Amino acid sequence: MPSSLISQQVVGEDEVILPVVPNVSVVVPVRDEVESLPLLLEAISSTLIASELSYEIICVDDGSTDGSAELLKEQAQIRTDLKAVILRRNYGQTAAMAAGFNYAIGKAVVTLDADLQNDPTDIPILLAKLDEGYDLVSGWRQNRQDGAINRLLPSKIANWLIRRTTSVHIHDYGCSLKAYRAELVADMNLYGELHRFLPALAYIEGARITELPVRHHARRFGQSKYGISRTFRVLMDLLTILFMKKFLTRPMHVFGLLGLVSMIFGSGIGIYLTFVKLFFHVDIGNRPLLILAVLLLVTGVQLFCFGLLAELLMRTYHESQGRPIYRVREVVAKNVK
Ligand code: UDP
Ligand code: MG
Repeated sequence: MPSSLISQQVVGEDEVILPVVPNVSVVVPVRDEVESLPLLLEAISSTLIASELSYEIICVDDGSTDGSAELLKEQAQIRTDLKAVILRRNYGQTAAMAAGFNYAIGKAVVTLDADLQNDPTDIPILLAKLDEGYDLVSGWRQNRQDGAINRLLPSKIANWLIRRTTSVHIHDYGCSLKAYRAELVADMNLYGELHRFLPALAYIEGARITELPVRHHARRFGQSKYGISRTFRVLMDLLTILFMKKFLTRPMHVFGLLGLVSMIFGSGIGIYLTFVKLFFHVDIGNRPLLILAVLLLVTGVQLFCFGLLAELLMRTYHESQGRPIYRVREVVAKNVK
């Protein structure tokens, strides 16, 4: 049984000191959410104080232009529970989350959206579940308050695909409200729109995963930052990780293999045609078989080269993993390490 995440450190006889490591780091990616932020900070702190959990809030400003960054910096100078991490420009929600993970020092990490669609009062419930021995507790928006065609449908498809291809059987991979053990997020390599598929990545890492129903509210201020083009990017990222999971060791071998098979068939037919021409004087002419042979050979060679290129690309990709996917302009916190 893993050690309790929400126990206090007891030193000496009856002297209880506040843990240096907070129970939980709440990571919030923020892009243009200036109206929601004061309400959000208040809701998070009052919930966690009421639950007697020590905490820090890490708001990552992802290139806001509406004054969110200024508000966060100002608040971080007043409040002791807030770190404001200001990114240089907009890098996307995944990168903002990765930045938050990087600054988090809590035993557990909780992520949620800044727009009040997730409910901070669910945080202690997720943490209690985590304490039962899980590495990741994912929120399940049973009453999701988003558009049907542009949001619910694509996410239904994505959820179905992941459920089919991994053995993580949860309903709502895309819910931002999640709780993690700190060790799990520490070595997670995020890029693109992958934050939505953290459970799938965590599953590859061998994490124990579960889900809990959480509240979900309609957006109160501003608009969603996700349109149909982002949905497409999300689906592409999904395909990449599913692909990587299937062919984890050498993901791109599949192209080379396809090319090779195609080349073998093409060559086989070519040899057969040459054979009948040479020994039985059968005219090759413009028979369909000839066209097939040429097609298979040409596509085979191309796919094979494609496979080689992809292999090189994968190597470059893995080598470039050390590079950050975001740049930090400024960190404002009263008690930064
Ligand atoms: N967000 C971000 N960077 C972006 C887009 C969004 O940090 O480029 C934040 C946003 O401020 C919010 C969360 O990510 O806190 C989720 O975004 P949004 O509410 O637009 O997405 P939806 O709820 O519609 O999925
Ligand atoms: Mg939202």
